[in-house]
Amino acid sequence: MSNSILDDGGDFQTRKVGPDQYEMHIPIPTNDGLVGRECPNAECSPGYFKVKLGTGLTEGQVLAYCPYCRQEGEPNDFTTQAQIDYALSVLKNEVVKGIDKSFQKALGLGSSHKKTYGSGMFKMEMTYKSSKPDYVPRPLEEELRRDIICPNCGLEHAVFGLATWCPDCGKDIFMCHVETEFGVIQKVLSVVDKRREELGARVAGRDIENGLEDVVSVFEAVLKIITIKHLANNGMSHDEISKRLEKIRNSYQNINSAGETFHAQTGLDLFHNTSQDEVETLRTIFEKRHPLTHNLGVVDKKYLERVRTGDTEGREIRVTAQEVEIAIGISKKIISSVYNLCT
Ligand SMILES: [Zn+2]
Ligand SMILES: [Zn+2]
Repeated sequence: MSNSILDDGGDFQTRKVGPDQYEMHIPIPTNDGLVGRECPNAECSPGYFKVKLGTGLTEGQVLAYCPYCRQEGEPNDFTTQAQIDYALSVLKNEVVKGIDKSFQKALGLGSSHKKTYGSGMFKMEMTYKSSKPDYVPRPLEEELRRDIICPNCGLEHAVFGLATWCPDCGKDIFMCHVETEFGVIQKVLSVVDKRREELGARVAGRDIENGLEDVVSVFEAVLKIITIKHLANNGMSHDEISKRLEKIRNSYQNINSAGETFHAQTGLDLFHNTSQDEVETLRTIFEKRHPLTHNLGVVDKKYLERVRTGDTEGREIRVTAQEVEIAIGISKKIISSVYNLCT
């Protein structure tokens, strides 16, 4: 009788490689061909990303990188806990099935799982009830993600926040991530006319307002990241950087205070490559956001003091899709020139 618990072959290409050692290949299920990866550095946040196997470096990859913190390691070091748990539960089920089979064989039970001894008055029936394999949950993965293709090595991957590094070639692709962030807003803007036709002017108007809000959020988040990078490159400690960030608060949401704060933190001119006209245009468009967000689009006195656009108090402010597009263009210009300066 074979003393093997697991048969050779099968779904997982099982192979006995030693007296009590087996090799199995357990594929990780994916919805879209992208496999989840986790940064081995426990302090990295969000630390989770996905890569499409067969893209990027397909041969002889020795090292892989975390897109957020650039921690390097062997590709296997990036296996997620959910994947390890999944593989272990698949393995447990295979072992339980193997043990069941060995028991039935040893007891001489047929496919009915029953055996009857004797007949007439003395009859004994033996039944073997096998344990049910566990339900194997699929590794849970977040739906909200940013898909990106590395312009250097072609790796198709997805991240869950603004990242910097390509997981395969380790190159700095931060600006590519920034482009993708703005690209999402541009996609929303590109269907505004259709939304107006189908759902009315107010819905289309809200899409544009939300688009402007998102441009300001991306601008702010990216400037914070650039400031952190600059301070870290200059040897500032993690704690000291956190204190500086507290001081920055939301000053990157406003163009005037953004310039002042960026200079105070880095000693650099945020608008060194941008014309005065462009800075002024961006400031005016960004300023529209405040009354839009806090006053349901009705101009208040505070707004009129800051921008002299000719809008009358109490009249609804209009922000157009074209203005949001212009804000994206100028924001990208400012960000890319300052990123080159800081890194
Ligand atoms: Zn990391
Ligand atoms: Zn790459």
